[in-house]
Amino acid sequence: MRRFPEAIEQLIEEFSRLPGVGPKTAERYIYALLKLPKRDLEVFGKSLAALQDRIGVCTTCFNFSDSSPCEICRDSGRNAAQICIVAEASDLHALERSGAFTGKYHVLGGLLRPIAGITPEHLTVEALERRIRENGAEELILALDPTMEGEATGQYLVKRLGKRKGLRITRLARGLPMGADIAYADDMTLGSAFEHREALPNAREKE
Ligand SMILES: [Zn+2]
Repeated sequence: MRRFPEAIEQLIEEFSRLPGVGPKTAERYIYALLKLPKRDLEVFGKSLAALQDRIGVCTTCFNFSDSSPCEICRDSGRNAAQICIVAEASDLHALERSGAFTGKYHVLGGLLRPIAGITPEHLTVEALERRIRENGAEELILALDPTMEGEATGQYLVKRLGKRKGLRITRLARGLPMGADIAYADDMTLGSAFEHREALPNAREKE
């Protein structure tokens, strides 16, 4: 089998690390890049190289940001008593695009997957707990994917945080199909799921 030149082989490997990109797609990307004017390619390369230096993580909500606290955490016009819990920063951005929410966020950094070794310690749950303890909160809105992992993570959070007095835990309404990915849901569906969010039974009341 004929191989590509070394530089292309290498890039195919790099691109293939990205979600949804296989060797074929990587190859298409590289052809497109090769057709770009040299100047554009330079800008592209520099932006990639600068990504890690310029973008960090907000130490309050764990969103990607070029400042910490991030713009959303600093925004005094947003309701700090409502914290929307999402798995990934991409979910946060989908919700922001929908315009449905005017509170603050907390990015967990994933969902619980005990089989894959992802336990609460791998997520930002402890930081969330501290944040609620120190700054208070009235409502936690679980905006987690309607998947088994999303459900399990939600249940865990209700169990761990649901006993706090004056804290209501809600979750997005069932408008999202099972197995859906919040980051790719359309604005209308997300907005409606937000508006019709449902209260979860308080762990305290069940005891
Ligand atoms: Zn933040």
